[in-house]
Amino acid sequence: MPELPEVESMKLQLAKFLKGHKITSVVVNNRTTFQGDEKNIIGGKVIGTRRFGKVSVIDLDNGYSILTHVKLTGQYIYRGANLPNPRSLSPKVTGGIPGPHTLVIFKLDNKGILYYNDVRRFGWIKITKSEEVKTNSFIGKLGPEPPVVQDFTGQKLTLELFKQILSKTSRPIKIVLMDQEKMGGVGNIYANDALWLAGIDPRRKAKSIEGKAAEELYKAVLTVLKAGLKYGGASELAFVTPDGEEGEYQNHTLAYGHEGELCSRCKKAKFEKYFLGGRGTYVCPVCQK
Ligand SMILES: [Zn+2]
Repeated sequence: MPELPEVESMKLQLAKFLKGHKITSVVVNNRTTFQGDEKNIIGGKVIGTRRFGKVSVIDLDNGYSILTHVKLTGQYIYRGANLPNPRSLSPKVTGGIPGPHTLVIFKLDNKGILYYNDVRRFGWIKITKSEEVKTNSFIGKLGPEPPVVQDFTGQKLTLELFKQILSKTSRPIKIVLMDQEKMGGVGNIYANDALWLAGIDPRRKAKSIEGKAAEELYKAVLTVLKAGLKYGGASELAFVTPDGEEGEYQNHTLAYGHEGELCSRCKKAKFEKYFLGGRGTYVCPVCQK
C-alpha cells in the first residue's frame, strides 16, 4: 500500500498538474469509490494539495475538498496541457485510461483530465467541506507524522513523542510503527527497512525499545522515508505517480523483498521472511536483535 513517500509524490504532482484549474465535469463510474456529491466540486478551482498520512487532499476555492485514500491499487493519472509529451504509461496502469478499471474521471478547464483507476477497489474518494478535513472521521484519528517533508500539515512526531508511544505498548514494534493511529504514514516497506537499519527485531515488544535504541529507530524511520521521497516512492504493487510513471524506491530497499539474499551489512546471514500481523516481514537474523 502506498505510504508517506508515495502519497507525498502523488500530492506534489497533483498540485503541479491541477493548481489554478477549474473542474468542469466529473464522471462517476463507481458510487462505492466516490462518496459525496460531485455537484459540490464542479466549478471549483484547485488552490492546492495537502497530505495527511496516506490520505491526499485536493483543495478547491469553493470551500470543498477532495479526499483520496488509494489503499492497495488506486491510481491517479493525469493527461492534458500541463503534461506535454508524457512518456508512455506504466504497465502497472491496468486496462489503461480510460479503461475497465477507471472509476472516476475529473475534467478540467484546460482540457486536462484526471483519471482514477482502481483494480481492487479498496480505495475511496470523499467530497468534504474544506473546514471539516482535519476532523474527518479518518484523518482526525491519524497519529503524528515523522517530520520528513517541510510542509507537513499534521502533528509532528518528535523523538520524545516517539519514545512515549513505544513505552505505552507491548505490541510488536513493527505493528506499532505501522499503526496509523499511533503514527501516520509508515507502512510495510518502510517499517521493514527502518527496523533493519536500526538493527531491531520486528517482533520485539515496543516498550522494550528505549533510550539509544529508540533514538536509532526514530532516525532510521526518518532516513528510509527520506530515501523513499528522493526516489519518488516505491512502485511495488500498483503505485504510479500522476504522470503515469513509476517511483524507484523498490530498487533501493534495504530489507524489504530481499529474502534469501545475503545481508549487505553483516555479510554473514541471508534475509529471512515470515509474516507478522499478516504482512511480509524481512529480517537479518544476525543484525536484528
Ligand atoms: Zn545482517
